[in-house]
Amino acid sequence: MARVLITGAAGFLGSHLCDRFIKEGFDVVGMDNLITGDLKNIEHLFPLPKFEFYNHDVSKYIHVPGEIDYILHFASPASPIDYLKIPIQTLKVGSLGTHNCLGLAKEKGARIIVASTSEVYGDPHVHPQIESYWGNVNPVGPRGVYDEAKRFQEAITMAYHTFHGLETRIVRIFNTYGPRMRLNDGRVLPAFIGQALRGEDLTIFGDGSQTRSFCYVDDLVEGIYRLLMSDYAQPVNIGNPDEITIKDFAEEIIKLTQTNQKVVYKELPTDDPKQRRPDITLAREILGWEPKVHRSEGLKITYDYFKTLSLDDLNKIEHKNFESYNKK
Ligand code: UDP
Repeated sequence: MARVLITGAAGFLGSHLCDRFIKEGFDVVGMDNLITGDLKNIEHLFPLPKFEFYNHDVSKYIHVPGEIDYILHFASPASPIDYLKIPIQTLKVGSLGTHNCLGLAKEKGARIIVASTSEVYGDPHVHPQIESYWGNVNPVGPRGVYDEAKRFQEAITMAYHTFHGLETRIVRIFNTYGPRMRLNDGRVLPAFIGQALRGEDLTIFGDGSQTRSFCYVDDLVEGIYRLLMSDYAQPVNIGNPDEITIKDFAEEIIKLTQTNQKVVYKELPTDDPKQRRPDITLAREILGWEPKVHRSEGLKITYDYFKTLSLDDLNKIEHKNFESYNKK
C-alpha cells in the first residue's frame, strides 16, 4: 500500500488529513514539531500499525527511512496571532521547510502537494479571487512573513516541477473551520465561540463589514485529496464561496450558542483583507469538486466540539497578542 508523509500532522488540517489517508488505507507518517500543533489531535491514531509519528522541525533536514509515495506539506503557523508570535519560524517553515520537503520528494520519487493560501492574494483588488490574480500583498506588514513565505513556497514548488520534473500540486486554501481548531489561535470562529462560552462580548475588529467565506474542514480535505490525485500542477483554489460579513457572522454565532452576548468593536488589525471569496470554477471543472456542508451544519458540529473542551482550555486566551498585533 502507498505511504504518505504529512507535515504539520498534529495541526488542525494535518490531523484531519491523517484521518482521511488512514481511512483510504494508506500508511501514514505524521511529522510535527508541536509548536502550534497538539498531539491530542492525533492520539487516536497512535495505536494503529499504519501510523507513525516523528517529532521533527521540517525547516531542518528531513530524514525518513523507506519509501514515500506522497508528501503533503501542511506544516506552518496559520493564524495572524501565531505568525506575530513566531514570525521567523513562519518564514522558515514556508521557505526552508518547503525546500526540504521538495528535496525529499525528489529523492523518494514522491508526488508532493503544498498548502498555499488565499493570503497570496493579500488584500485583493479582484473579487472573487481567481487563480490568475497575482495579489496585493504588503511584504513588510505583519502578515508579510506568512504571505511572502507562501508566495515563495509556490515559486520554489513550481521551479522543482519545471526544472526537476517533480510531480507537484499547489492548493490555495481559503478560511476553513471545524473541530480541532485551536481555541486560542485568534481566528475569528474560535474567538467568537470562546467568548460566547465564557460569557464575554464578541470582539468585532473594524466595523465588521469585511467579508470572509468559511469552508467546513471535511469539504476542504475532499478537495485536497482530489487535487493530489489529479494531474494538475498549477495552483487551485479550494474554499467555500458562501461569503458573509464578520458582523453577520457574529450574529450567527450568538444565535448558534443561544448566549445573547453583545458585540463590541475593536481596532482593525493592519492589512486585514477587506473581502475574501474564492472563485472555485477551476476546482469544479478539473476536480468535479464543490463544498457540500452548509455553514449552519458545519458550525453546529464545530460548536459541539468546542463544548467538550474544559474550562481550563477556554481560559487560555492570549489577549496580549492581539494588543501587540494591533500596534504593528
Ligand atoms: N476578527 C474579528 N474578531 C476577532 C477575530 C477576528 O472581527 O476576535 C476578524 C478579523 O479582523 C478578520 C476576520 O475576522 O477580518 C477573519 O479573521 P481570521 O483571523 O479568522 O482570518 P483571516 O483574517 O486570516 O482571514
